[in-house]
Amino acid sequence: MAFSVREASERILAAVSPLPAVTVSLRDALGLVLAEDVVSPIEHPPWDNSSMDGYAVRAADVESASKEVPVSLPVLETVRAGQRPTRPIERGTAIRVMTGAPVPEGADTVIRVEDTDGGETRVTIRDARDAGRNVRPRGEDLRPGTIAVPAGSMIGPAQFGVLASVGASTVKVHRRPRVAVLASGDELVDLDRFDEVRRGDRIVTSNSYTIAANVLAAGGEAVDLGIVRDDPASYAERMAGTRGCDLLITSGGVSVGAFDFTKDVLKSLGAELHLWRVLMRPGAPLGFGTLNGMPWLGLPGNPVSAMVTFELFARPVIRRLRGEANPFRKTFEVKLRDNVSIAAPLTHFMRVVVEWENGTAWARLTGPQGSGLLTSMSRANALLVVPPDRTAIRAGETAHVLPIGEGALSAERLEL
Ligand code: AMP
Ligand code: MG
Repeated sequence: MAFSVREASERILAAVSPLPAVTVSLRDALGLVLAEDVVSPIEHPPWDNSSMDGYAVRAADVESASKEVPVSLPVLETVRAGQRPTRPIERGTAIRVMTGAPVPEGADTVIRVEDTDGGETRVTIRDARDAGRNVRPRGEDLRPGTIAVPAGSMIGPAQFGVLASVGASTVKVHRRPRVAVLASGDELVDLDRFDEVRRGDRIVTSNSYTIAANVLAAGGEAVDLGIVRDDPASYAERMAGTRGCDLLITSGGVSVGAFDFTKDVLKSLGAELHLWRVLMRPGAPLGFGTLNGMPWLGLPGNPVSAMVTFELFARPVIRRLRGEANPFRKTFEVKLRDNVSIAAPLTHFMRVVVEWENGTAWARLTGPQGSGLLTSMSRANALLVVPPDRTAIRAGETAHVLPIGEGALSAERLEL
């Protein structure tokens, strides 16, 4: 029985849960997902500090300062970042402070150095615009007991920095998924046999490359199990390589050809087949099952079909295994440059380039849409989604795209 794209997606995701948490050093946690809240044990910043290089004073003492009638105050001392003031501010005095340095008790203001003569023992203040400003209060960013980074957050650069700030030298994260990648087909070789490709006898297993790269891009670790021949025994011996893996992704051999053995072999090894065939193009002969608890995704062999089904089904599985709360990419609306029509009532995914014009996203087809044309995938930055009931979309009409990678959101120059 064939499923709609949405049903297939729901069934697949329902069968997958986040991997167990492990404790790793913070430096190894970048890109992984936190499995528990990290609570701050400290107050940050730990002291009221200056946001300017300047002079800590009492606002009341400088409010009248102007160019015409400046205010002159004795400077009690200079405090650098990393030092502490040795005394409080008294009425009618100033303490010279650098950015980040603690602001002495009694001061509610830091006058920026640009509004003064920069004096070291006495300072002349010519502007009152900073009165009551430039003091960053202690604990402004974090207080003891507040959640610094919540469970479920992906540790990107900002989270990495916050975790370091609160002393989380080790963190609990969901393990990075290990994903076995297996290609199948008698016609395939790897690059060490490219001379056979040059002779016209074989083709390169490009799926091994696109799938491994996509696994990495989705935040998993790829384990390349190489190529199996179109014969059941060849598969069976290679399956040992999946030990310790969290997901198996095969490509090819999952359609209705006389030598498409992937499903049968997996079944004979004890796999439970949960679904086969999705009402989509490209990518219809998709298989999904579990083998001894390990999910298996059988992607079709055609290079574009393998990439499109990876995007729709494998990427969310990997992200779910990683513990990501939002495993899917968002689609967004575009206007079409081309007329598009589909022949069969299936959800179609067409390779497009999305370009922005005055805030509107426009999509144009990359060219012919054959499922073997991998170069057209390499030019695309999104997949146009044509629902099964929308047989024709005319140029200028709207539709949705699923971005692939960051390309659709990159620009040649800063657009501010
Ligand atoms: P299959 O799904 O095995 O029937 O293969 C469908 C098409 O995809 C055939 O033209 C295969 O040659 C091609 N194909 C299968 N596996 C790969 C692969 N790993 N790399 C590139 N092309 C492949
Ligand atoms: Mg094949």
